[in-house]
Amino acid sequence: MKDGVFMIQARRCKRCGRLLTSKEAVDRGYGCQCAEKARMEENAKKPIPGQSTIFDFIDDEEV
Ligand SMILES: [Zn+2]
Repeated sequence: MKDGVFMIQARRCKRCGRLLTSKEAVDRGYGCQCAEKARMEENAKKPIPGQSTIFDFIDDEEV
C-alpha cells in the first residue's frame, strides 16, 4: 500500500476549515452543517417582505 496515492479532491470548508470529503461539500465550499448555517445567515440578512420574523413571535412573550 502506498500512502498519498489516492488523493481525492479535497478542500477545506470556508467556514470552519474542516476537510470536505464529499463532492457536494466541495462544490458548495462548506461542510453540510456549515452550509446550513451559511444559508440561514443569508436568509436572515434578507427578510421576506410581509412575513414575520421569529422575533415578532417571542416579543413580550416571556415577561
Ligand atoms: Zn465547516
